[in-house]
Order: sequence, then structure tokens, then C-alpha cells
Amino acid sequence: MTTSAAERLDKVREEIAKACKIARREPSEVTLVAVSKTHPAQAITPLIEAGQMVFGENRVQEAQGKWPALREKFPDVRLHLVGQLQSNKAEDAVALFDCVHSLDRPSLVAALAKAFDKAGRQVPCFVQVDIGAEAQKGGCAIADLPALLAEARAAGIPLAGLMCVPPFGIEPAPYFALLAKLADDHGLPGRSMGMSGDFPTAIMLGATHVRVGTALFGERG
Ligand SMILES: *Cc1c(COP(=O)(O)O)cnc(C)c1O
Repeated sequence: MTTSAAERLDKVREEIAKACKIARREPSEVTLVAVSKTHPAQAITPLIEAGQMVFGENRVQEAQGKWPALREKFPDVRLHLVGQLQSNKAEDAVALFDCVHSLDRPSLVAALAKAFDKAGRQVPCFVQVDIGAEAQKGGCAIADLPALLAEARAAGIPLAGLMCVPPFGIEPAPYFALLAKLADDHGLPGRSMGMSGDFPTAIMLGATHVRVGTALFGERG
């Protein structure tokens, strides 16, 4: 049986509301970022028409291909970059995205600061933390986080919070709890954590942004 985009969105929103109730939080504290990577514009449009306004992409080039036309049609939609960002794509990213979830190294602090200057506009950035010590996923090592945050602050980057992608296939709760603790320690309000398989757990542990793809769009081809 196939379900419509509106039905899948309703179901995800219900699960968000349920997790918020258990955690005694307000659903308005949690931003649902619909991760539309690999999905074409015709799969995205029904979700926008059903009321979803925040989307995430993980590659600048792919987003450049499909989002300018969608944004023209739906100017209120907001676009977040959730994937690794190469420094030489910082300018392109700042031109297209309203939020970056993957600031993870000093060279990118410099590239983003320069891109903000040039564009005359800043976008809030989450610092991605390598929460499971898996270098291949990107993210700043926990030990390097204080220095990176200091550099970002000194460069005038608007910091939204911290972001993580826990190791695949094991219980994510301890990693979410650790990210929330690190965000607290550094006085950062945002926690971007939780994907299709674990967003209710992330919300119970303080997520402010959940990045959900498969549960909204179905499996990626
Ligand atoms: C693809 C992706 C997601 C969404 O994953 P699903 O399991 O499809 O919900 C979330 N965050 C990042 C960084 C991603 O690349």
C-alpha cells in the first residue's frame, strides 16, 4: 500500500508531538527538517503543499539543480545544508541555504566568514560534532570543540547549536545525551539530532532540529 506525502507528514508530526508530550516539551520547540536529498522536485512539491516549510539537502550541487525553481514557486520555504561542505563551495552554499548544519573545521570557519562578507548576509551554523569518533563522517572531534567554537565566535559566525550523526546500528541515546550536554556546556541553544529511525528518542533528549528523510519520502533509490 502506498501512502501520500501528506499522510507521511501527518504521521511524523504525530510522532514528534507524542515524543514532546512524554518529554514535557512543546512541539513548537522542534523544527522538522525534511531531508529531500536524491528526491526530485515532483516528490518535494506535495510535501510543501501539505505545509512542510523546512527542507534539508546534503550536497550543494544537487540543491543548486532543483531548489532555485522550487524557491521561486514557494518563497517561504527554508533550506538547510545537512551534509559536508567543501570550503570552495562555501559561497555557493551561502547563496542558496538558510542554515548550515555541518561547520566542522577552522578552514570552513574562514571560508564561511569570507562568503558571508561577500554576500552581505549571514546564515546560522550548527557545529557538527564527531560524536562517535568516526572520522569519515565529518564533524569536529570533541576535544577540538572548544577551540573551534572560539574561532567561529571570533570570526562572527552566528552559531545555532551543535549537530551530530551517531554511529549506525547501535543505540543512539547516549550520543544524543552527550551532544545535549556539550551544547549546554557551551551555552548553545540548538541541537540538530535524530533521523528517521530515531527522532523520537532525540526529541526526548532535547533535539531542537530533527533531520528526517526516509520517513517522509520513502526509501532513497
Ligand atoms: C540523509 C540524512 C538524514 C536523513 O536520514 P533518514 O534516515 O533518511 O531520515 C539526516 N541527516 C543527514 C546528515 C543526512 O545525510
